[in-house]
Amino acid sequence: MAYGWITKSLQTLHRANWYRQVQTIDGQGGTTVSLSGQPCLNFASNDYLGLASDPRLMTAAQAAIAAYGTGSTGSRLLSGHRLIHRELEQAIARLKGTDDAIVFSSGYLANLGTLAALVDHRDLIVADQYNHSSLQMGARLSGATVAIYDHNNLDQLQHHLAHLRSQYRRCIIVTDSVFSMDGDLCPLPEILAIAHQWDTMVLVDEAHGTGVLGRTGGGAVEQLGCRQRPMVQVGTLSKALGSLGGYVTGSAELIDFLRNRAATWIYTTGLSPADAAAARAAIAILAKEPQRLAQLATNASYLRACLAQANIQYLPSDSPIVCIPVQDAATVLNLGQHLKQLGIFASAVRPPTVPTSRLRMTVMATHTQSDIEQLVEGIKAFLKIWIKGS
Ligand SMILES: *Cc1c(COP(=O)(O)O)cnc(C)c1O
Repeated sequence: MAYGWITKSLQTLHRANWYRQVQTIDGQGGTTVSLSGQPCLNFASNDYLGLASDPRLMTAAQAAIAAYGTGSTGSRLLSGHRLIHRELEQAIARLKGTDDAIVFSSGYLANLGTLAALVDHRDLIVADQYNHSSLQMGARLSGATVAIYDHNNLDQLQHHLAHLRSQYRRCIIVTDSVFSMDGDLCPLPEILAIAHQWDTMVLVDEAHGTGVLGRTGGGAVEQLGCRQRPMVQVGTLSKALGSLGGYVTGSAELIDFLRNRAATWIYTTGLSPADAAAARAAIAILAKEPQRLAQLATNASYLRACLAQANIQYLPSDSPIVCIPVQDAATVLNLGQHLKQLGIFASAVRPPTVPTSRLRMTVMATHTQSDIEQLVEGIKAFLKIWIKGS
């Protein structure tokens, strides 16, 4: 009886069309992947630069395994620290134009550990409504009071601070830089100005910005001209950088503090040498091959232009993430299924991940114009059938 509620819970998920399951990709990632044996154009990955299957990353990972073995064997503060970790951290700091960086085992852990280290029950977190799950969970874990503002609503952000700031010791504004399920950016210069006014820290999550935006791939922070401003930047090595792991970057003191205080860094095993080496190789390629960044931006613009041309409405996007709003979970599942039959893989994203259902597409630097045209043709065909049927 004690576990009977799980059966009921699963039934509820099925009824709401919220039930989810894994899909097996055979072989490597890339613009074409094999989905249960069927080749599909891939518009569902975070591998923006196509680096996850780059031979140079694989060679770097293999060399690290040969040099250091597979596991890092312990926490970074005990037996788990290798030269490759330090080299990676220095490369991240150079890419982001900051003093120093610290590498976590995932971006999720970086957010949990950083928020819990920077604020506690005496403090205030002011957070965007659409922040990533790891930021929401980190806020809860910290024990701080959390005030949520409507997505990118600076008036509400101001309002919360005016009402609440004086009652708390420290305060931190927390936001994604590129919103992962929408594709738009936070108004970072304005947020930093408000933070300054209210003596408040800012944590910005560059998971979908690093290696994607900015002249050198330094992220939305670079693109929006905010590199010189004090803030806490978090990100991942698992998206544009094609590996696994998370990082925090900022002032030398911030990073030193986290090495002493972030429980999700101190009490967990160091990132594997292979993952660290692959990420470092990715950062080197990013610097050597800026054309990848340019092509990514061109492809994202091309997708938006094709959708506009076809009169297909999409959510505001300033990134390679482009979403088409769809009225409900059942319809978006049908759309996803329809595309899959055409050999196109895009994500049907539903509640509770997002408040409203949408088709989420991500373009890669390595997509061709023809790949993108096929995607848009597939969506057009679905909309024609669907409008007729409804
Ligand atoms: C993916 C993502 C993370 C988590 O990063 P992982 O390294 O995959 O754990 C954190 N924040 C945002 C905004 C993300 O999109």
